[in-house]
Amino acid sequence: GLAGKVALVTGSTSGIGLSIVNHLADLRCNVILNGFGETKHIEDVQTNLKRQNIKVNFFEDDLSTVQGNLTLCDNIYRIYPTGVDILVNNAGFQHVSPVETFPTAKWEQMIGIMLTSPFLLVQKFLPEMKRKEWGRIINISSVHGLVASPYKAAYVSTKHGVHGLTKVVALETAETGITCNAICPGFVDTPIYQKQVESRSQTDGCSYDEALVAKFVEFLCSEAASQITGSCLTMDGGWTAR
Ligand code: NAD
Repeated sequence: GLAGKVALVTGSTSGIGLSIVNHLADLRCNVILNGFGETKHIEDVQTNLKRQNIKVNFFEDDLSTVQGNLTLCDNIYRIYPTGVDILVNNAGFQHVSPVETFPTAKWEQMIGIMLTSPFLLVQKFLPEMKRKEWGRIINISSVHGLVASPYKAAYVSTKHGVHGLTKVVALETAETGITCNAICPGFVDTPIYQKQVESRSQTDGCSYDEALVAKFVEFLCSEAASQITGSCLTMDGGWTAR
């Protein structure tokens, strides 16, 4: 089982990340939360998780910056000298704008959080995973890692990019106890999606529970999935099958 494993889930104060953290805590992993949000909400989340008798830590480092990622790693290594066993790169956000007017600052922030952060966190935690001969790296991508939509230049580019990173890391860890995969959800009913749903003229997207992503993460962490690596796995209700 996963009991006693140390799991970092980035962007876990809300949505899919929070659901993954809750699920890994149910499986008795020690969890590290990250993200932004109201102090009261984050305290409540931590109090709730601590009922599991596991170690719970929270760091609000901004993962859109290189320094934020390095500080997060320092903070974690101070608590766990052998790093993390499970790394879930989940933090992200959407910005919708035609490419001609897409703000450069937004582009850089999105590349920072959804592409550079996974790279840096893999770089910092992989050496210890190799020493421990076990590790699970799971990048929460999107169907937009496989197909595009208009007005989502940065989002689509970062998600396509993270698939490249997923494959390279899988090759560099082949024949070790480490796997690296991406999960590509379609529409999941979370705050990120709520912000967009109002502007959607039709509801043809496949909405489904965040909890399903958490169950998929559990499976990828299991021994049954030890030969699944370098894969970008859709869970989109068939959306990309068209
Ligand atoms: P969400 O807005 O509910 O959660 C995003 C999390 O990231 C929050 O915890 C937030 O605080 C954190 N975050 C944002 N900026 C950050 C920063 N600079 N540094 C650190 N943390 C930061 O969104 P969600 O829907 O749960 O999305 C999570 C992931 O799932 C994203 O990578 C998203 O692209 C992906 N995804 C979502 C959907 C969907 O329909 N909701 C579909 C496919 C993929």
